[in-house]
Amino acid sequence: MRGIIAAPGMAMASAHLVSEPEINVRKREISDVLEELERLRCALAECSSQIEGIMDSMDGSVDPQTIEILDFQLLLLEDTDFIGEIDSIVTGQSINAEYAVKSASENYMSKLNNITDNDYLRERAADVADLSQRLIAVLSGVDMEIAEPDEPYIAIGRDIAVSRVAVLDRDKLKGIILESGGVTSHCVILSRSLGIPCMIRTQGILGLANQGDTILLDAVSGEVIINPDLVRVQAYNDYAHKEEAKKTMLKEYVNRKSMSLDGAEMKVYANITMSSEAENVVHQGGEGVGLFRSELLFMAQTVTPPSEETQYAEYSKTAKALGDRPLVIRTLDIGGDKLISYMDIGEEENPFLGYRAIRYCLDHPEIFKPQISAIMRAGADGNVWMMFPMITCVDELIKAKQFVEQVGLDLREKGIPYDPNIKIGMMMETPAAAMDATILAKEVDFFSIGTNDLAQYLFAADRANSKLSYLNSPFQPALLRIINRISKAAAEAGIEVDICGQAAEVEALTPIWLAMGITNLSVSIPCVTSVRKRICQLDKADCVGLLEVVLNLETADEVEKVLIRFAERNIIHDN
Ligand code: PEP
Ligand code: MG
Repeated sequence: MRGIIAAPGMAMASAHLVSEPEINVRKREISDVLEELERLRCALAECSSQIEGIMDSMDGSVDPQTIEILDFQLLLLEDTDFIGEIDSIVTGQSINAEYAVKSASENYMSKLNNITDNDYLRERAADVADLSQRLIAVLSGVDMEIAEPDEPYIAIGRDIAVSRVAVLDRDKLKGIILESGGVTSHCVILSRSLGIPCMIRTQGILGLANQGDTILLDAVSGEVIINPDLVRVQAYNDYAHKEEAKKTMLKEYVNRKSMSLDGAEMKVYANITMSSEAENVVHQGGEGVGLFRSELLFMAQTVTPPSEETQYAEYSKTAKALGDRPLVIRTLDIGGDKLISYMDIGEEENPFLGYRAIRYCLDHPEIFKPQISAIMRAGADGNVWMMFPMITCVDELIKAKQFVEQVGLDLREKGIPYDPNIKIGMMMETPAAAMDATILAKEVDFFSIGTNDLAQYLFAADRANSKLSYLNSPFQPALLRIINRISKAAAEAGIEVDICGQAAEVEALTPIWLAMGITNLSVSIPCVTSVRKRICQLDKADCVGLLEVVLNLETADEVEKVLIRFAERNIIHDN
């Protein structure tokens, strides 16, 4: 069967079908309304204590988002609108509490589901459905808990509710397969933070798999195989063996210094999109967050942008989870392919060349200022840095910095704690910025090279168009030459230069970044240790020689071949 890969990887274990208990809710007239309301009160109290019990039973490894959702369900049990509606259905129509809960939650969910342009909110409807299911089960005297198998398993369900996932044994849970589900559904977020594979929209799986069947979840090629044949099993065992050996070997690099054999340091940071990932960054040995993409917070809203308080809470939580490690928060990078309904960017012929990121923010102080304020306030709680996306010329940078100055004055006047010396940086994503790197370097504390966009704009090649991937290749010599130019300008100005685009995690290029004097590489969380291992195997002096050769090559193929040959020699040398 095929599905959509939501968290990559492979797993083989027995099927554990997680189905919702089927409770037939019938409408019943009641004679004693007060007695029914009392029955409802008792059920609400029982649900609260069940959810609190789930929270108490979770160990420290649980992700903060699970706690947030369970907290949301606890709040909903006390929400005067939601509970008031149930009460008034019972009272006004003299009908049973189960039916009233079902009606009130269906109303609530349909409001959330009608918000058609917001996946995040639509998926929160699942949390309401889960709560109402629990409430109805308690009212009907049905036990919600299901026995977990003793052996390792792959959980299979339609879209497994958070209160179910929260109690699953993390040691036995090897993968998740959902019939529905979206990329921001809770199971997906959880599987990513646990590092286990997950596939969604695997339609029909519940009808075909039986409890205890062997399931091969291949979230690399996007396939699920029920009761695989021996050839498949052997192929999986080989894969698992190699992965296990790799994981064990890479564990050694979690706490190692990111330093070459001859003592050159290049730190490894991670890229994240929400606070719940910060703990995993620390766990995997990330020395900081080099790119917090703040867009998701904005995309999760439907009508208005997230308030300053909401943003502050999220940034501050992330900063605190990272301790003294740097957290680079990028201000809103909207536009291009990332559209938000409540922001009126307007129809554009060429959105990637349009009114996006800093260009939009500079014209919209009502959006830009609260974000800057939230970032500066979070700076009082941790090691927070601020970064502007898509800066093309120095005027934009100066205007953005004026906002920072103004917001700082406002915060000081109001006596709100903030970091007055917050480090300010910019993404290097356009050829114009690279050409003027020397001028721009005078205005910032750091550059962070966004190789995804830099390649797109340098080669005039849409980064999402697979037919143009040869132009968006990280081995293109013109891209390497422009990055070299940027890093030289940074070195001359004495500022940091980081790489946070995809090319940062291409291990064949690690020697090139080391030779260029890149300060930090910011990569996806699973790549932190493997990139660090590569740095630890290198000798910077050799890499400088390699860089000289590479910068004089003419084609991407030549660059790739030279780098592969270097890696082979280097690895032999390392062994
Ligand atoms: C980049 O352009 O390389 C980058 C890191 O930013 P994004 O991928 O979010 O555009
Ligand atoms: Mg970019």
